[in-house]
Amino acid sequence: MLNGKIDLRSDTITQPDAAMREAMANAVVGDDVLGDDPTVEELERHTAELLGKAAAAFVPSGTMANQLAIRSLTRPGDAIVLDANAHIHCYEAGAPAALAGVQVSLLDGERGQFTAGQLEAAIPPKDDHFAPPSLVCIENTHNRGGGSVWPLEQIESVTSTARGHGLALHLDGARLWNASAVSGVSEAGYASHFDTVSVCFSKGLGAPVGSILAGSADLIAKARFFRKQQGGAMRQVGILAAAAAYALEHNRARLADDHANCRALANGLAKLPGLEIDAEGVETNMLFIGTGERDAAALAKRLDDSGIRLLATGPHTLRAVTNLTVMTEEIAQVITAFEESP
Ligand SMILES: *Cc1c(COP(=O)(O)O)cnc(C)c1O
Repeated sequence: MLNGKIDLRSDTITQPDAAMREAMANAVVGDDVLGDDPTVEELERHTAELLGKAAAAFVPSGTMANQLAIRSLTRPGDAIVLDANAHIHCYEAGAPAALAGVQVSLLDGERGQFTAGQLEAAIPPKDDHFAPPSLVCIENTHNRGGGSVWPLEQIESVTSTARGHGLALHLDGARLWNASAVSGVSEAGYASHFDTVSVCFSKGLGAPVGSILAGSADLIAKARFFRKQQGGAMRQVGILAAAAAYALEHNRARLADDHANCRALANGLAKLPGLEIDAEGVETNMLFIGTGERDAAALAKRLDDSGIRLLATGPHTLRAVTNLTVMTEEIAQVITAFEESP
């Protein structure tokens, strides 16, 4: 429950609780642009270690983390190869073109996951006609793919194919925590196949702000330059790093609850007439609900009136994302509300 409603619009709607706010209030801070903030330094060190990388930079958003990676790993005029439904392509305001000057080469993956064969087919011969691909991006879990988790073997085959062509690799791991919670593959286990990895603290982990980009010392030094250039270097930002550190320590293990709640929601809704539910497809905390004939926005409005918030992501599609404000007991209420809603 959040502000009297069961809020399933996203896992970004979470708010810092009293203990997180206390950690923020008590954070030792300094001017991080001058390298003086011990709380930021500790978060960067600890997260880099978790991801098995040498260095990391704290940034305001997942978008900035992804875009710093693209700028650090490409040159203007290059092509980056990624799934057509990737967050980097769909939801980052055209940043690859605007900020890095690269063009996208889009693959038609399955639930956001493409194969080594598809990647291979998208790499043009070395010829002056073609934008040279230099970077492949993978998203895990995959947002528009329904919170899907990439099988490790598929990551291995795609990344080894990319390496064979001399391409760099970036992992958009905004919800990598969720992938690891489900698969048992550690975050570092996934990240080991990539040059850079971005992670978010402000999604399922419940911090108000913040992401990390991790990679080699050289790459992160480059990324820090672009972070400054794009206005993302911040001063006494240990206040936010303290929230992220708190989230990492206290809210990571409980992601399994979100996943169980999402499965229960899918199984309950699958029994109702007039809804299209792929209950088998629920792997983490995300469920896309087909509303059949019904207009999704109108249905969302009616559900909102009964205290349940969902996002209409298409004319006949709603999205539900379980998160730390949604209690297990509340899932039954959501199912009942759907049952009673015309
Ligand atoms: C949320 C998200 C991001 C980053 O979004 P911001 O709102 O900029 O923090 C990046 N990738 C994926 C897959 C996401 O879901």
